[in-house]
Amino acid sequence: MLWLTLLVLGAAAPPTPPIVARADWDDTLAEGTPPALPGVTRYPPNLAAVLDGIVVHHSDFVDAKGPAAILAYHLEVSGFADIGYHFVIGQDGTIYEGRALDAVGAHAGQSTEANRGVRDARRRGGADQAAHVDRARAFDPDYGAIGIVLDGYYADQTPPRAQRRALTDLVQHLRHRYRIARDAVIAHREVKQRRVEDRGLHFTGPTSVCPGDAGYRWFLLWRGALPRAVPGTPRPGPTSTGAAGGVDAPRRH
Ligand SMILES: [Zn+2]
Repeated sequence: MLWLTLLVLGAAAPPTPPIVARADWDDTLAEGTPPALPGVTRYPPNLAAVLDGIVVHHSDFVDAKGPAAILAYHLEVSGFADIGYHFVIGQDGTIYEGRALDAVGAHAGQSTEANRGVRDARRRGGADQAAHVDRARAFDPDYGAIGIVLDGYYADQTPPRAQRRALTDLVQHLRHRYRIARDAVIAHREVKQRRVEDRGLHFTGPTSVCPGDAGYRWFLLWRGALPRAVPGTPRPGPTSTGAAGGVDAPRRH
């Protein structure tokens, strides 16, 4: 069936906010060299088909220490292969590139199903072990989730204005680029329910209060004020013959 949308009334695409490249803040990187990430799952090339949510965190550092300190903490204390988040936002509103967007992050926690699948794939071994591991990781709440951390500790205060504005700019840019519904923009403490139990899976490990009580109260108001429509989504005009549910419809889960 051929349907045409003759009028496009959607809002313009939001501008890409300035983002400090990884090579410009990470002294451990040789310039232009992507970090080697043994054990980190890479997404298939069409990221828009995979990235289906955004998880917002606070860094838990009372004196916001910046992306290099977060990276060091994740490598040395958490035992991660790389910084866990895809973006770090400083209290002055500077946005830093973190883990590559085509790599699964380490920020949302784990599910019983993903862990069991990875364990089974490793036990079975074989030539296609890596493919089985990657398939099991699709049940991980990190899979498809863009991790953004607000540097700071927001148990009893809200993020400063510049940081809040940068988050809005970054989230709207990412929502447009990867067609992410507003309801899929969640706080870390919502992961257990929204990215695990709502999918019929089981959350493993301690639940989180991230991004802090005050931070979360602010987050709920902030999310409620985001436009519901995916930014820049063309809306069917009055002459449309039924584009509802078309390719630009935001995905839900
Ligand atoms: Zn968190």
